[in-house]
Formats: sequence, structure tokens, C-alpha cells
Amino acid sequence: MTKTLADWTEAAAAVTAPHQMLINGEHIDARSGERFAATNPATGTTITEVALGDAADIDTAVRSARTAFEDGRWSQRSPRDRGQALIRLAELIHANADELQLLETLDVGKPIRYSGRVDVNQAAHTYAWYGEAADKLYGEIAPTGPSALGLITREPLGVVGAVTPWNFPMMMNSWKLAPALLAGNSVVLKPAEQSPLTAIRIGEIALEAGIPPGVLNVVPGYGETAGRALGLHPLVDGITFTGSTKVGKLFLEYSGRSNMKRVSAETGGKTPNIIFADAPDLDFAVGAVGFSIFWNTGEMCIAGSRLLVERSIYDEVVERVADSAESWSPGNPLDPATKAGPVVDDVQLEMIMGYIERGSDEGARLVAGGNRMHTETGGYFVEPTVFADVDNDMEIARDEIFGPVLGIIPFDDQEEALAIANDTRYGLSAAVWTSNLGRAHTMAAGLKAGTVWVNNFDTSDITAPFGGYKESGCGGKDKSRHALDKYTHIKTTWINLGRGGI
Ligand code: NAD
Repeated sequence: MTKTLADWTEAAAAVTAPHQMLINGEHIDARSGERFAATNPATGTTITEVALGDAADIDTAVRSARTAFEDGRWSQRSPRDRGQALIRLAELIHANADELQLLETLDVGKPIRYSGRVDVNQAAHTYAWYGEAADKLYGEIAPTGPSALGLITREPLGVVGAVTPWNFPMMMNSWKLAPALLAGNSVVLKPAEQSPLTAIRIGEIALEAGIPPGVLNVVPGYGETAGRALGLHPLVDGITFTGSTKVGKLFLEYSGRSNMKRVSAETGGKTPNIIFADAPDLDFAVGAVGFSIFWNTGEMCIAGSRLLVERSIYDEVVERVADSAESWSPGNPLDPATKAGPVVDDVQLEMIMGYIERGSDEGARLVAGGNRMHTETGGYFVEPTVFADVDNDMEIARDEIFGPVLGIIPFDDQEEALAIANDTRYGLSAAVWTSNLGRAHTMAAGLKAGTVWVNNFDTSDITAPFGGYKESGCGGKDKSRHALDKYTHIKTTWINLGRGGI
């Protein structure tokens, strides 16, 4: 039966949120005894007090992961066995879907209509997809001469530290954990301090699924302490990070200052969404604009925050986008009718409001939104906001705002569109709307971005790799079989077959 707002409100009042770290299969408090508040961004109230892990707890977790890796309790199991456990994890995520969906909504304000359909389902699908792939991946044999046999095999890195963001907690964690675990690594996960709850719960469910204690450890805590300790730890072999470009660069430094651990970083974005006058279906394209920037309250690395529109249709598109913004007005995330929730916390709120203020100061034309909403709730709600007549040099066009703020920029021809689109330090994704096949291919080839959508926005699945160019990321891709490159060493074994020659 479909749940109503009253049902979800009742469930929220009764929910028991996990609050301890998970190390070596045990629920424990931080060694310091400290805790931090998990806050509901829709009300500003505390959901629970969570153990605040720091460097000492990270050290315990890393040593437990190292022991687990070295004794082979997971790393030496057959790929098929590991795959079965991941598939079981996916099944248990579905079995616990209501609870996980609710925890995600309470922790980060994600509308309940999406936290199950999108976040729970996608996370489960990711674990199942990698689980199913487990015994279908082969090594290689080098094309040697007859005197040698060159085996090219993959080995797990060892201990992987995963440091993740709060905008899609369960999903981002699954993109890291599923391939890392499939490859045989042990993992220490440090979720964002804004979103510890489902991370801890997934750790518990993984144990139930048969992933042995010590193989997946979860240490909630702050970035500057726990995250940093993981980045600098000499017994960590690889870091998989998703978050801001600023912190991604810090992990590269941590690696250089410690043991040169492998670092892969998926970081920020400033996606150009480019509509040409010959877009095949302008209604569909304009509808997708709202989704591209207001869905998930704009807290998306791929958010289409720069809308580039060909001048002959510019006025019409500006008007239609401004008119439709209100349909993305945020509301109570527990209400199944709500399409957008609050932003994640007061820090994010202040940052977004600052950008809106400076956008007007810089001369952009505010055509929708611009204000806080629902202040009486104690939550952090922002109106869907649209600026027209934006210049690509303005701060709102250059910085990743990570909120529901769109800037619309006019262009005159394809060459100019491409130049504006690429004039950014980011290169995560881009979208092009055109009926001209040649133009679609030329733009896709010219855009310096890891993903280019043609006549759609953000429609992909786990089979396609994801990751950016330039300062949007480095060190490999998430999703698809390519993700395994981040979590494995490639080893060459060169065997002399004794038939002469060297
Ligand atoms: P963030 O960089 O502030 O935090 C990400 C993680 O890093 C958190 O777990 C945090 O605790 C940790 N961290 C923070 N400071 C640290 C430090 N000094 N040392 C070590 N760890 C530290 O990012 P956020 O605000 O959580 O997430 C938003 C950012 O994530 C945006 O820039 C967004 O574009 C990016 N993001 C990228 C992708 C992608 O796939 N490219 C996906 C989602 C989000």
C-alpha cells in the first residue's frame, strides 16, 4: 500500500537511528567518547547523536581492515563467493528498503518519493550488478613469443579508504564499495558528517549478507580529522573519494606526504546544458532544464547550472524556465507529493544565499526565486532560483554553487557555445540539444567533459563509466567494469618456458 505523509511522519517519530561506529563487526563508541548531532535539515532538529570518530578510531579501523585483508577471510575467497555476498547485500537492502529510505530522507532532506525509488533501488542495483559480474571477469595473456608466457592478472590493492559526500549517500557509497569489495579489498568508509546514518546501516546489513567482520568498517567523523587521518594512514593502499575539488586536491597531498597511496577523486562540476534553436523537442528540453538544476535541490555534481541558449530562442526559453521554476518549490520531504526538499544544512544554506546576493550584485537578472522559504519550520529551504543574462565570467557561472540556482547565458553560434561551455575549470558532464547529427557529434567531441548527453539530461546507468576531466576528477572512473581499475593492481608474471631466447 502506498504510504501517506501521515504514515511517514509516524514512522519518522518511531525510527531508531544507528549511532555507533562499526569496526571489525562490532558497534562501538568513539575512543574519545565524543558524539556529534545528525541533524534533520527539514526541521533543524537532532535525529540522534552519532559517535565522532577521529584519528585514533581510523587507526583501529584501518588495522582491523588490514588484518582482515592479510588473513584472506575475504580477499582469498573465490570471486563467485564474493559475488554471492554482494547479491545477498542487494536483496537485504530491498528487504530493509522502508527503513533505509526513511533514514536517508531524515538525514539529508531528500524527498521520500525519490529516496526509495532512486536511492535505495540504485544502491541495491549497484551491489547486485557487481555481484553478478564477479565470476565473469578474466585475466589476460600477453602476446609473447614461444619462449615465454606472460600472465596479466588483477590483484586487490589491500585496504581502501572511501571518503564520500552527502548528496546521494547510499548511492555514492555503493559506487565505491561494490567494486572495491568485489575486487577483494577491505574497506574503511568515512561517510560525510552530514550523512552518517545509512552508511552505518549498510555496514550492518553487509555483515548480515555474509561479508566478514573487518572487511567493511564504517567510521563517521569530520573530514579534517577522520578523513585526513585516512588519507595520511600508511596502511591504507588506496583512497576513493567523492566530494569537492578542494578536498580532492588535499587527498593527493596526503598521498604524497605519506605512502603514495593510489588516489581516485570524483569532484565538482559546472555542467553546461546547451540548447540550440534546432532542438528536436523544445518542450522536452525546457522540462529537462528544471530537472537538471532543481532535482535533489541542485545538490548534484552534474547539475546543469549553466544553461546556454541560442539567441533566436533565448527570450522564449528564459520566460518558460522562469515560469516553470515554481513547480520545483521545496516542501516537507516526508510528503510523497514533494519534489524538492531543503538543502543539507545551515552552512550550505548560507553559502547558496551568498551566491544569490552576489549574482544580483554582479548584474545578472533575477527572473525567479532568490529567497529562503518555510523559515517557520526551522529547516533550510531555498526557492528555485533563475538568473538570466549571465556572463560566463561572473562568479555564479564559474563556481559550483551546489544548490537550486541556475544561470542562463545566450550564445550566437556553435563555435561560441563550445567556447563558453569549455571555459571552466570543471569537466564532469555536458548536454547538447540539437536535431543536427553532425553538430551533435562535433559538440560531443569538442566538449571537455567525462559524459556528454545528447537530447537528454542525466540519463545513464551502472553500465556506463562516470567521472570528469580537468578539475572534476582524476585517477579513474566510477561505475561499469572500468571502476575495477581503481581497486586493483595489474600484475605481470613472466614465465620462461625454456625454449631459448630471453
Ligand atoms: P566535501 O569535499 O566537503 O566533503 C566530502 C568528504 O570529504 C566528506 O566525507 C568530508 O568529511 C571529507 N572531508 C572534508 N574535508 C576534509 C579534509 N580536510 N580532509 C579529508 N577529508 C575531508 O564535499 P561535500 O560538501 O560533502 O559534497 C559536495 C561536493 O561533492 C561537490 O563539490 C560535488 O560536486 C561533489 N560531488 C561529486 C560527485 C562526482 O561524482 N564527481 C558526486 C557527488 C558529489
